[in-house]
Amino acid sequence: MIAALMPTYNRADLAFEHGEGSWLFTVDGRRFLDFGAGIATSSLGHGNKHLTDAIAEQAHKVMHVSNLYRVPGAERLAARLVEATFADSVFFCNSGAEANEGMIKMIRKAQYEAGHPERYRIICFEGAFHGRTLATLAATGNAKYLKGFGPEVDGFDHVPFNNLNALRDAIGPQTAGVIIEPVQGEGGVRPAYLQFLRDLRTTCDEFGILLGFDEVQCGMGRTGKLFAHEWAGMTPDVMSAAKGIAGGFPMGAILAKEHVAKALTPGTHGTTFGGNPLACAAANAVLDVVLAPGFLAEVDRHARKLWFGLVEIAREFPTVFEDARGAGLLLGLKCVIPNTEVQEAFMHEGLLTVGAGDNVVRFAPPLVVTEQDIDTCLDMVRKGARRCLPSASSIAAK
Ligand SMILES: *Cc1c(COP(=O)(O)O)cnc(C)c1O
Repeated sequence: MIAALMPTYNRADLAFEHGEGSWLFTVDGRRFLDFGAGIATSSLGHGNKHLTDAIAEQAHKVMHVSNLYRVPGAERLAARLVEATFADSVFFCNSGAEANEGMIKMIRKAQYEAGHPERYRIICFEGAFHGRTLATLAATGNAKYLKGFGPEVDGFDHVPFNNLNALRDAIGPQTAGVIIEPVQGEGGVRPAYLQFLRDLRTTCDEFGILLGFDEVQCGMGRTGKLFAHEWAGMTPDVMSAAKGIAGGFPMGAILAKEHVAKALTPGTHGTTFGGNPLACAAANAVLDVVLAPGFLAEVDRHARKLWFGLVEIAREFPTVFEDARGAGLLLGLKCVIPNTEVQEAFMHEGLLTVGAGDNVVRFAPPLVVTEQDIDTCLDMVRKGARRCLPSASSIAAK
């Protein structure tokens, strides 16, 4: 008989009772170092007092009122995001997929309002991940995820990642825009070349099409800048955010320049829960921490430490790892043996990681990770790698 909890995930047999910082504790008293952070989402780690107090205080006052009324917390959060980014205006929703759906609608509507209703197609990249709704699945373009769900939503073209010639060739009279993750997360922890992002900007301007960034995973401080594209010194027209934005409270956002944002006039887009007082209290608390002077510099410093450690380990174990890759605190080890075996070995050592495409094991610790946590992680990675050596497994098999 089917489980009461619908079995749409391959879950590890671990149940956590509470967490502190980068650590999670199971109901049966074991502890794990959490370098998955709920898939790059628990940005302030577990049990962060500033965040939990903000949520508790707001919950006591009022959690939800709908977008029929003003929400002061949402106004403040939007103003802070506008102040800190390229954006002129922000729309709040509840997840990454919902943010991307809205971004797709915004790009199409902005072209329509600009007198180009024929421009509705969006160019996306191979290895992308944009979500599991019907349109974001089509934007993702992964045959494995699309199979069995009926006709694919029309309007998405795919080109190889980091390939400007392929992108230019794909632009046609119906092209409305381009959507890219500055660092591909699910697809295998692959950063776009910074020059490629700059070339994308000039190409989009040249053809009069809009540039959308999906920073659902790589944004909100994860790369040591508030948003990953800042490393390239350029800006998109519109961008989605989610995952870490409210530290584990479900929230998404679309940040846009005025020329795109103004296409969504009252009544053209909406969501019941989006930007409610409780979610905004959480996100404002996250911003208090992430925007505090010196915080992102610390993320960058810790990211470099983890990066150099992983590079060294990849060299030490060439039969287990091919290379280290990624940006900031979104790093990966590409494996030689199946990544699931590597993850299992890490879990034996007490380390939680997340799988990614292209046979990669992903490291996305809380942004508040400490130097000591990183040392502990690297120690566990090394021990886990030893478990994966061919000789180790043949000894274990005997
Ligand atoms: C996780 C993710 C999404 C989808 O977010 P959900 O909140 O799961 O809907 C979209 N884009 C990227 C880059 C992601 O990492």
